[in-house]
Amino acid sequence: MFIDSHAHLFDPAFRADLNEVVDRARSAGIAAIIVPGTDLATSREAVDLAERYPDLYACVGIHPHESAKAQESDLEAIAGLCRSSRVVAIGEIGLDYYYEFSPREVQMRWFAAQIDLAASMQKPVVVHTRESMTDAMSMVHAGTERSPRWNASATHDGEPRRGVFHCFPGTADEAAELRTLGFGVSFPGIVTFRNSHTIEILRAIGFEKILLETDSPYLAPVPLRGKRNEPAHLLHIARHIASALGITEEALAAATTENSRRLFGIP
Ligand SMILES: [Zn+2]
Ligand SMILES: [Zn+2]
Repeated sequence: MFIDSHAHLFDPAFRADLNEVVDRARSAGIAAIIVPGTDLATSREAVDLAERYPDLYACVGIHPHESAKAQESDLEAIAGLCRSSRVVAIGEIGLDYYYEFSPREVQMRWFAAQIDLAASMQKPVVVHTRESMTDAMSMVHAGTERSPRWNASATHDGEPRRGVFHCFPGTADEAAELRTLGFGVSFPGIVTFRNSHTIEILRAIGFEKILLETDSPYLAPVPLRGKRNEPAHLLHIARHIASALGITEEALAAATTENSRRLFGIP
């Protein structure tokens, strides 16, 4: 049993066959799917989906790509969406300096405001970074200093749970530093790409600490690379990681599912 911690099931790519996509995920043993919005409209769609399907959960937020187009009033609307019990996190939010579709200062303003929103609502955040790890880390660090009580109650392993850096592009040292701030890291199908160094980083981090994700409809794993991705394909990612690390798929499933459940508060 696995959890797909990041899948954009509101994407038009799923419009024609979402029921079948969810059925295939269930048959593949995907117990829950986290659906992060990227702007106000898709955050609303994520909440709608989570209210329609019992195994779907929503995150609401403004993605750095969309932050230049966002209205000031969107922040309040995002906060309002959190009234649904199906909303488990603020996301996805963050900084993307690779595409830089929004000016960096606008991205930073929205990132900081949404970190503070998450802290005030005692919710975790789902963080997107691309070529922005240093700034993103210092911004979440500053957020924890502004709101020291943000999801601060330590769990049995002594770590607060404030969020996840999804599609983690950083080093093992950066993952360790994030852990001390209360942030986990998650890995998509990139781990299956031939030139990926991610497995080395994963070895250093330890599979017990990570979350798994598909980032559907993007980043389909080998052998489906280039096709539309969907949550059932998480099994290819899991199989690849388990065999590369010499562990059983059951051990990987148990650890990553528990990490996702704890972070998002899924029963
Ligand atoms: Zn992302
Ligand atoms: Zn995403």
